[in-house]
Amino acid sequence: MSSITEVLPRARGGVMADPGPRGRFGDHGGRYVPEPLVAACDEVAAAFQEAWADAGFRRSLANLLALHVGRPTPLTPAWRLSAELGIDLLLKREDLAHTGSHKINNVLGQALLASRMGRTRLIAETGAGMHGVATATAAALLGLEATVFMGEKDMERQAPNVFRMRVLGAEVVPVRSGSRTLKDATSQAMRHWVGVVDEAYYCVGSVIGPHPYPYMVRELQRVIGDEARGQCAAELPAGVPDFVVACVGGGSNAAGTFAGFVGTPARLVGVEAAGGAGAARGREGVLHGFRSSFLQDGDGQVTEAHSIAPGLDYPGVGPEHAHLRDLGRARYVTVEDGEVVEAAVRLARTEGIVPALESAHAVAWVIRAAASGELPPGASVLLTLSGRGDKDISTLMELL
Ligand SMILES: *Cc1c(COP(=O)(O)O)cnc(C)c1O
Repeated sequence: MSSITEVLPRARGGVMADPGPRGRFGDHGGRYVPEPLVAACDEVAAAFQEAWADAGFRRSLANLLALHVGRPTPLTPAWRLSAELGIDLLLKREDLAHTGSHKINNVLGQALLASRMGRTRLIAETGAGMHGVATATAAALLGLEATVFMGEKDMERQAPNVFRMRVLGAEVVPVRSGSRTLKDATSQAMRHWVGVVDEAYYCVGSVIGPHPYPYMVRELQRVIGDEARGQCAAELPAGVPDFVVACVGGGSNAAGTFAGFVGTPARLVGVEAAGGAGAARGREGVLHGFRSSFLQDGDGQVTEAHSIAPGLDYPGVGPEHAHLRDLGRARYVTVEDGEVVEAAVRLARTEGIVPALESAHAVAWVIRAAASGELPPGASVLLTLSGRGDKDISTLMELL
């Protein structure tokens, strides 16, 4: 693979480090919130810095991740698909984490932080419901209350997840404003937080939002990349894969994965939905408390995203991804819905794994890039399988 290593931009010391008190990743990030939330965000930032430096906090979180989530998740060689594609494909199995995706890694960390801060209730917004279910799960485990804001339209589309949240004891609040989807649910959750900052903790579901959330969520998800780095060292002759690939909605599973490899020569690839390509096709803007790359219309209004995978249905991307893109340290590519469904079925039939449609985006790019030669024969590829496909079965039933 020497031809690949030669052209690699090397990670500099500061890449994926602490973004500092202002939470800037190059031109991106920061904190654009109403006055009452500035102090609330400062309090979260200070509490996280202190907790993250405390070995006791890290031990408690590691225990929960081992005993409740089932970490470490395996690194599974995709034998049959690798043989078909002529590459060496390794799957990091976040689909095997409790509740069926990587989201629980982040949520347990934030729930533990909320308890440490003396908060008794978690607030969250959710689109498809996966972050809401993870939040309701963490709240139940730690004896906290949970209030989850969800667009009315999403509640209809994702009725089983609404029910799951209620079984877990969470309150689900329907959001009736605007397009009645995730964007409006996020705005309403932030407005609600303003009035209850002393009792409630706002639990963000991806590497988005005002500082410190993008940094904190990446740190809480880096367990994916750190585990995978060690597992690759044992599995691969070179110790490090040639390519590291993950799907990108807001970008938390990708950020957590990349964090483990940014200091190595591995090439980092983020795969977006063609209809939700904040990094690949967005322009600079501000939404939901942070500056980053968003899909916008001619007037600079942020537009709605469209993807077959509900978790990638976000018009923007986390600020650190916009920065990694600007630096040339990571590449962001897109795939179409049709390729995604084919890729999901192909993984199911070659490896016995039905992936989440979000994760199938990463698989679809690997299949395409192996066919085009962009992934050279024999290349080793680490792919983070962010979740399992159970939640997408009704979508697949309509299409297949
Ligand atoms: C939510 C979700 C995603 C997208 O979120 P990121 O923050 O980009 O990781 C991807 N895969 C699954 C299974 C999800 O539930």
